[in-house]
Amino acid sequence: MKFLKILMPIIPFLVIGCAHKAHQNAKRITINDFSRLNETVVHDIVEPANYASLSQYLQDARTHGLKIAVAGVRHSQGGHAFYPHARIISLKKLNKIVEFDPLKKIITVQAGITWQEIQEYLNASGHAVKIMQVANVFTIGGALSVNANGIDPQNGPLIESVVCLKIMLADGTIVTASRTENSQLFSLVIGGYGLFGIILEVSFQVVENNFYQRESCRVAINDYAQFLRTMAQDRAIGFHFGMVNLTISKEKIFSDITAVCYRKIDAIKFTKNKIRSLTAIRRDRAPLKYIRQLGLALLRKIPAFKALHAPLDESRDGDIRSRNFIMSPPVSQVYSKPKKETDLLQEYFIPLDGFTKFMEKLDTATRKYAINLMHIELRYIPKNSESFLSYARTDVIGIVIFFNQKISSQATYDVQQWTRALIECAYQLGGAYYLPIQLHATCEQLSAIYPTIDTFFVMKKQYDPNELFMNHFYEKYRDIN
Ligand SMILES: Cc1cc2nc3c(=O)[nH]c(=O)nc-3n(C[C@H](O)[C@H](O)[C@H](O)COP(=O)(O)OP(=O)(O)OC[C@H]3O[C@@H](n4cnc5c(N)ncnc54)[C@H](O)[C@@H]3O)c2cc1C
Repeated sequence: MKFLKILMPIIPFLVIGCAHKAHQNAKRITINDFSRLNETVVHDIVEPANYASLSQYLQDARTHGLKIAVAGVRHSQGGHAFYPHARIISLKKLNKIVEFDPLKKIITVQAGITWQEIQEYLNASGHAVKIMQVANVFTIGGALSVNANGIDPQNGPLIESVVCLKIMLADGTIVTASRTENSQLFSLVIGGYGLFGIILEVSFQVVENNFYQRESCRVAINDYAQFLRTMAQDRAIGFHFGMVNLTISKEKIFSDITAVCYRKIDAIKFTKNKIRSLTAIRRDRAPLKYIRQLGLALLRKIPAFKALHAPLDESRDGDIRSRNFIMSPPVSQVYSKPKKETDLLQEYFIPLDGFTKFMEKLDTATRKYAINLMHIELRYIPKNSESFLSYARTDVIGIVIFFNQKISSQATYDVQQWTRALIECAYQLGGAYYLPIQLHATCEQLSAIYPTIDTFFVMKKQYDPNELFMNHFYEKYRDIN
């Protein structure tokens, strides 16, 4: 009783305190990305359904001093698509096909659409995307803003296939950008990480949904650059990727490369039914989905399984597939990660002559920092320097590294040191690293690898003087000069 008497006067304050806390928590809106390492509290997340309401959201942000960040499906891994206390704009509802001209083979879409949605539309008329990432889950706005690359060795980064863009600038005006109109903005926005304006629409080239037959061979690491030089001359090769075979030895991580090519074939002999099964796009179905999840779990934990990964895949040689089928691999397995771990991706772009040296460095640095590699995929990317922050200023090998990291400060530190060592090596070899990864690069490394980055930031302020468009990437590096 005595205890209750003491407590009585403070009960109302306790109740108010709890209610206040609950209210605060209810209002706390957070966002994260594929890495799960960048949780950020934001002001709000809005999904405009038309350009007038998008413009209104921008106007409202300017009036209230809010920053804006644009988000696709947030597969960039360094908080590139959001910023603390900012208004996050998702273009999910701006996902329409605007126009398709099958004669000119040019499609115009809104930027919130995903590749999968575009593929489903194009598939019906026997067309396919010309350049995109390996998977089809990404938004076209996100893909353009990183200037994505894929596995078609005849085509370079995404910018190559773009005809023109419609962009909403920070003051709400809408402009068109192409190689002949606002050409500077064209090269800044593609690969511009949402810092210059919001991409509303894009027109880009498409191709026919051709058929290809799979073949593969083993290539020594030392011979791979020469293999690519020869392969790139063969116009019948529609797709190529290399899988680096991992070993179980502690002294040496890599053995050789399984080089996979898809060779174009004549499809006239196929019946309509056969074509339907060869062109399927939605492929993430159970029970195969669960088998793939198990496979990924084994890749994380069991070294012997890593060594089996590529050889097992060789059994698919001879398969005949459509372009749309090859460009829509099932990927749902990459989203089932253990609670205290995460899987991450990095990509390095190395001129052909430097490939062997880079692989040596990757081997030693990976062992030094005990990085849990899961899979390394290689691709050939012909040069294209149209984007202001181009990463393929010469023909390069894209080295995509998929690895697992524990969620702990020590693991983050190790990955940071490893990444910096690899970036340093890429720089020494005249190569680059891909920007939508975690922000481990130092300011010095960023400006060494991308020498135009200081001008890029100066331009940013010209197009967006009040820095309305913000994200973690810009925040970290903007004071570089
Ligand atoms: C599993 C996995 C596989 C991958 N494979 C590849 C690959 O094969 N090839 C490759 O090149 N990359 C690959 N990536 C990287 C990927 O292409 C980029 O992270 C890309 O940005 C993803 O698109 P998104 O919709 O998730 O964009 P987000 O990550 O949401 O956004 C990326 C950037 O684009 C900006 N942005 C988004 N929409 C707009 C818009 N409408 N207007 C202006 N700016 C906008 C954002 O602000 C942000 O800066 C891969 C990543 C993962 C995690």
